[in-house]
Amino acid sequence: MEKKVRVRFAPSPTGPLHIGGVRTALYNYLFAKKHNGDFLLRVEDTDQTRYVKGAEDYILEALKWCGITPTEGVGVGGDFGPYRQSERKAEGTYKKYVNQLLASGNAYYAFDTPEELDAMRERLKIAGGHSQQYDAASRNSMSNSLTLSEDEVQNRIAAGEKYVVRAKIPQGEEVKFKDLIRGWVSVDSSNLDDKVLFKSDGMPTYHMANVVDDYLMKITHVIRGEEWLPSGPLHVLLYKFLGWEAVMPEFAHLPLILKPNGNGKLSKRDGDAGGFPVFPIEWNSPEGEIASGYRESGYFPEAHINMLAFLGWNPGTEQELFSLEELVNEFSLERVGKSGAKFDPDKTKWFNEQYLRAKSNEELAQLVKPTAGDVSDELLAGVCGLMKERVSFSSEILEKGKYLFEAPTVYDAKTVKKKWKDDSPQIVAELIEVFSNTEFKNEVLETAFKTYVEEKELGFGKPMIAIRLSITGEGGGPSLFEIMELIGKEESINRLKAGIENIKKETVA
Ligand code: GLU
Repeated sequence: MEKKVRVRFAPSPTGPLHIGGVRTALYNYLFAKKHNGDFLLRVEDTDQTRYVKGAEDYILEALKWCGITPTEGVGVGGDFGPYRQSERKAEGTYKKYVNQLLASGNAYYAFDTPEELDAMRERLKIAGGHSQQYDAASRNSMSNSLTLSEDEVQNRIAAGEKYVVRAKIPQGEEVKFKDLIRGWVSVDSSNLDDKVLFKSDGMPTYHMANVVDDYLMKITHVIRGEEWLPSGPLHVLLYKFLGWEAVMPEFAHLPLILKPNGNGKLSKRDGDAGGFPVFPIEWNSPEGEIASGYRESGYFPEAHINMLAFLGWNPGTEQELFSLEELVNEFSLERVGKSGAKFDPDKTKWFNEQYLRAKSNEELAQLVKPTAGDVSDELLAGVCGLMKERVSFSSEILEKGKYLFEAPTVYDAKTVKKKWKDDSPQIVAELIEVFSNTEFKNEVLETAFKTYVEEKELGFGKPMIAIRLSITGEGGGPSLFEIMELIGKEESINRLKAGIENIKKETVA
């Protein structure tokens, strides 16, 4: 029988979740759902020096907004939450396996002070070695359980001296694993250092806690960002040291999300410079800094997810719009690319526009209603219908469609200067006559207008722009006759009259 797929998203609460992290969570979620598997959320909070207050809540809220719901965690109902390594540590979960590594000789105690470590690096630098790391070549000249007597080691620990436990990385061994995205990854173990696995404060480091939890939680696939690829060989060795090779998860390291110009990893600074967020929701740092989020910028979560799905994956067809459910059906790691995915701010907006246009006028009306003031639902829906093709965000509907609620008080200077001719007031006056006797329906208005223009042997441009200016104050916009139908006869005629009065070419500089 095939093993049940179990994947995890394992963020460290060191700050807000970058959209790269959201994409990792999304791909894990899609993969789990596609295979009827489990999707766990595990907060990796063992590094207390990097812990940032509010970061965990932020991560949970961001995932919730995106609709990426974990299927497994701790607690039930309202108390349901992620696994937390800080809590698992209290249960002694990791210490047991650290002891196993010590007993089997795959790990050792080290007592070196920061000054001694600095001195070691300095020494190795002067000696001209290829690296200055704690490894098979240097460990023999340091204070550790490989160089000190057993009594001495026990005495130091009993005296409360600070120590770490390091992995004893073998020399000259080929460590390899098959990455589902990159194929075989292989390194010479001589290039790896003796990473710290555990500290005397009782905390495991990322590597130890991560591997132990993946094992205990029966994770079948580790899907994570490319920045963790260098950790892969150490993790593979730990599986081997602990005798867990047979149940080692498969690895898939996702490509980086690159700056719009493709030069390097997308950062917050790129977002600030380009005017786009790199975080799913707004982040308020404990120091009072605010970083903008997709949610607050007016993006729909569906559009955000759709955009993220395409940063590294493609369906192999022309289709670009996918609901979360469709993504679940289509997603596969085989279609995730190896090379970095360039972030495209315009395409990101494009996705939002598509989702905006797909919403019904009534649905959009409900969305903008809280800021619309005293306006009927019907008028609001009409406004949304007219404006949705011309905006990127629902918040722009009221802003850009202001003239649909109130008569213009200013008229676009450039248009007036270029398009408001000496006979424009006359034309508008004649059209007032025409429209006064016309039913205010889009097509009827259009026919009446055309008949007038043909009778007078005028081109379409001049009369059209004259009424558009009078009615909206602007030189462009949605279909004029639809606007007139929406605001109605009385309002339209009043605005046309006001146009004749108020649009003055000579006052325009
Ligand atoms: N805690 C790591 C992070 O912050 C997890 C890496 C992994 O998925 O193994 O991304």
